Amino acid sequence: MKHNVLGGTGISVSQLCFGVLPMGPNQFGLSPEEGGQLIREGILSGINFLDTAQSYGTYPHIRQALDSLKHKRDDVVIATKSTASTYEEMKAAVEEARAALDRDVIDIFHLHAARVDASVFKERQGALECLVDSKSKGVIRAVGISTHSVSAVRAAMDISEIDVIFPIINKEGLGILHGTRDEMAGAIRQASLRGKGVYAMKALGGGNLLDDRRGAIDYVRNLPGVSSVAIGMVNRDELTMNLCIFNDQEVAEELAETTLREKKLIVQVFCKGCGRCVEICPNMAMEVIDGKAGNHAEKCILCGYCAPVCPEFAIRLV
Ligand code: SF4
Ligand code: SF4
Repeated sequence: MKHNVLGGTGISVSQLCFGVLPMGPNQFGLSPEEGGQLIREGILSGINFLDTAQSYGTYPHIRQALDSLKHKRDDVVIATKSTASTYEEMKAAVEEARAALDRDVIDIFHLHAARVDASVFKERQGALECLVDSKSKGVIRAVGISTHSVSAVRAAMDISEIDVIFPIINKEGLGILHGTRDEMAGAIRQASLRGKGVYAMKALGGGNLLDDRRGAIDYVRNLPGVSSVAIGMVNRDELTMNLCIFNDQEVAEELAETTLREKKLIVQVFCKGCGRCVEICPNMAMEVIDGKAGNHAEKCILCGYCAPVCPEFAIRLV
């Protein structure tokens, strides 16, 4: 599989990044053993790049894979992220990741900033300062931002402390905030020309573009400036199929059919109507009506960000 260096970081990553969100407790609920086995298979098949977050609950899955790889464990590049706002909160998030993953150094640590615009850098200045200090102490290798916002990508390219940008982009423009698909593609290209490392999320639009998996992936992986594409995987068929695509191999027809898995979001009856899911949703896809949350499927990109904030554990992506 092709590998690319992420901007000026010197970090070389496989073009297919293993997205570790959907195997976690908020979505498919694989055990750390099951998830760890799948990640291990991905790494042994040529993937060296994993993307996770403090809120995904998947550090144990990654730890299982790393522990089983022994001498190869340090060859794996790990990106994680936190929604922390203050210096102290981010410091705790970095320490949590180091301890949970049993790693002295985390490769890439992002401000997890899905729905906010360019104001994020002012509003979460303390968290950004902590990441910059962590890098100077050698505790992380690169500082990043993960975002759905075109304006945040544009702002990040002017901030010298940001090494890596992790934006949403897909061929239908699903879930992109503060601009169009083509404006996001332009911002990505510009950011890369300014020396930022860019890898992309949601190439499959949270499962909405599965009808043309190869076309959707090829659109993103061929965009100028994109070094890698994070794709969430929860079973061996999906892993095999994505490996075929990224290795430019044909995909067996039966395999293409088995991986046409439709995801959906379910709000369970014990929803209390508190509205936290409405506040966090980047796409205005949740609404509380008559004391119960409802999902607007046409706006929902199945990103899963609403599930962990629900105090009642009422949201499931299945
Ligand atoms: S966060 Fe949970 S309890 Fe609150 S409105 Fe949303 S689904 Fe209901
Ligand atoms: S409703 Fe939930 S899963 Fe859907 S876009 Fe909003 S945060 Fe993401």
